[in-house]
Amino acid sequence: MSEIKRLNQQTINQIAAGEVVERPASVVKELMENAIDAGATQIDVIITDGGLTKIEIKDNGKGILTEDLSTALERYATSKLTTSEDLESINTYGFRGEALAAISAISKTTILTTRNGSTNSITSNNGNLSKITPGSRSQGTTIVIENLFESVPARQKFMKSADTEYKYILKTFTQFALLNGKIHFTLTNNGKEVYNLPSSEIELLPKERVAKIYSLNPSELLPIQHEEYGIKVQGYLVHPKLLTSNSKFLVSFINNRPVEDKGIFKAMQQGISDFVPDFFKPTGIVSVSLSSEQVDVNVHPRKTEVKLINPFRVYAAVTHAVKASLQTNLAQPGQQIAYKPQMTSTFSSFSTKPSQWDKKQDNAYDRLRGSQQQLFFKVNP
Ligand code: ADP
Ligand code: MG
Repeated sequence: MSEIKRLNQQTINQIAAGEVVERPASVVKELMENAIDAGATQIDVIITDGGLTKIEIKDNGKGILTEDLSTALERYATSKLTTSEDLESINTYGFRGEALAAISAISKTTILTTRNGSTNSITSNNGNLSKITPGSRSQGTTIVIENLFESVPARQKFMKSADTEYKYILKTFTQFALLNGKIHFTLTNNGKEVYNLPSSEIELLPKERVAKIYSLNPSELLPIQHEEYGIKVQGYLVHPKLLTSNSKFLVSFINNRPVEDKGIFKAMQQGISDFVPDFFKPTGIVSVSLSSEQVDVNVHPRKTEVKLINPFRVYAAVTHAVKASLQTNLAQPGQQIAYKPQMTSTFSSFSTKPSQWDKKQDNAYDRLRGSQQQLFFKVNP
């Protein structure tokens, strides 16, 4: 008798699921991408227990044909790509046809969808499909994921607390909301509406939305708008008066893709360095757009790094963009702006170890908040 056996499809999908679904936030990412690809103008994300109990994503997109409902859950089944030539001109998030197969292999997945007035539902229990049954809802699709990872105890062990998983989801949600201003998004966590972000005329980083997401006043966001050598840098910098030694948020996109590139963060730091003391950390968002030949397109769906052909030009552009924003938005030449300092003589008695130092410095700042002391910084003419 032979020893080598072909794995069945369900086992293949469960193994492959590890590639696509690292944590609940990966599910949210895939389902939000599908909703956007379906042309939705409203997307509601409803989370219970950091997604470990339930993730529900509702959209008003084009829906799924009844005859496609079970195929949508198969591996390598997609409506977004027909031939390999299509890869050249792909303008959807998805095209690999892997996400629904992976997610439904390791959870209870229920799809309720309406297309052309006909509503149907299908459920997958760790890959075992139910019959298709009629249902009711308005145009669009609702996908509910429950018992994620229950059939994969090894993966479940790696899950952090519901709070931590929720933070990852929040980050994912925020990234989509920042990049897709024309879509109305809501986020509900454990029954409480966290965000209701109505659609805007502006697609990329609408100011009102940015302010709402980060609980800021729009006037506290200094616009970044700069271009050099074909590299366009847009975004917002939080007003220096709100900066501290900890960055509150630092978000960057390259060609509309969220990236975590230390060089870009460093470039932002460099950009503020002429205007604020060293220990202030930049807080804000930069979105860099450059011709696609300048970026090595990374096809791995989960990677947050891209390879820049000439990173130093990009970093320089970011630094210049941040400087230009401060230069134009802070004050007119010769004018002075006042803000409460975070640096006092008491610092000399502090340990210089960064971790302890940061904390003490923050405490000192809190004490200072009430004081009358003011430092005047002169903006370079
Ligand atoms: P991909 O997005 O790479 O095509 P998925 O596994 O994510 O693969 O989805 C499979 C198919 O299911 C999609 O190609 C699409 O036709 C359909 N689909 C998934 N989610 C939705 C949705 N929210 N609305 C409409 N169609 C959807
Ligand atoms: Mg997809």
